[in-house]
Amino acid sequence: ATPTAIMVATGKGASQGVLIKGGNALEKAHKVKLVVFDKTGTLTVGKPTVVSAVLFSNISMQDFCDVTISAEANSEHPIAKAVVDHAKKLRQKHGAENEHHPEIEDFEVHTGAGVSGKVGEQRILVGNRRLMHAFNVPVSNEVENYISEHEQLARTCVLVAVDGKIAGAFAVTDPVKPDAARVVSFLKSMDITSVMVTGDNWATARAIASEVGIQMVFAETDPLGKADKIKELQLKGTPVAMVGDGINDSPALVAADVGMAIGAGTDVAIEAADVVLIKSNLEDVITALDLSRKTMSRIR
Ligand code: ADP
Ligand code: MG
Repeated sequence: ATPTAIMVATGKGASQGVLIKGGNALEKAHKVKLVVFDKTGTLTVGKPTVVSAVLFSNISMQDFCDVTISAEANSEHPIAKAVVDHAKKLRQKHGAENEHHPEIEDFEVHTGAGVSGKVGEQRILVGNRRLMHAFNVPVSNEVENYISEHEQLARTCVLVAVDGKIAGAFAVTDPVKPDAARVVSFLKSMDITSVMVTGDNWATARAIASEVGIQMVFAETDPLGKADKIKELQLKGTPVAMVGDGINDSPALVAADVGMAIGAGTDVAIEAADVVLIKSNLEDVITALDLSRKTMSRIR
């Protein structure tokens, strides 16, 4: 494309809230046949809330909430925020008189799995099944049943282990964005296949994918795994677009031919992307691809 055509298209994009950084992405976008969407915060609203909390050991509700808050208060993950909010309310309901919670030591973040640390003499783990497996914490049938019941409803479960035993769990829901299904079906009408990639578990991922009409799903992928999936899909021969919002999406946004960041996402994702959807509107994925198609067809 001529520099003028690219300048015109870039200006037009900007006026519609689609910030295109440079001509390269714009030129590649018209050939895109695959759009890979991150799940949390991209297809879903990204503001999870806790819908259920249970105990699986004889720990008191207050102690359970205390250790959970101590661990999760240090995490930036949206799930952690939901869990902390809920645990604070629960703890009050169960008679806690103050907001105080014990300090955590040896705090560690396990990307795509959860957090760990020590509260007093107790070893605390808060996260998913994978985290429990990594630390050899047995997951009983009772716990498995709780998890799968909620995962089928597209919820994500957060397990809390104290000294190597599951003490309790939370189920978290994060609804899909109202326009997600419409965007996927419109892309299909443009002959573009939508794909979902997520660090969340397979069952929750599949449930969300079927809500929005996506057939191709990759779950339980870490940030580099997401980038690897993009590279695999590129082997099919046409440029691949990736849409994401998180730090964990940035390697994939860089790997993609056209990386698109949700404007409300993290700065790291916005920096890694070629296109920023300023209005945080999923429909602007279509605006961007359409703009590229129109620009490129005019020149050819
Ligand atoms: P996504 O790709 O969906 O944005 P992430 O890679 O950020 O997901 O996280 C994957 C999974 O790891 C989450 O669905 C959750 O089960 C677990 N997880 C990560 N961090 C935490 C945390 N702080 N507390 C509880 N669970 C967590
Ligand atoms: Mg995300």
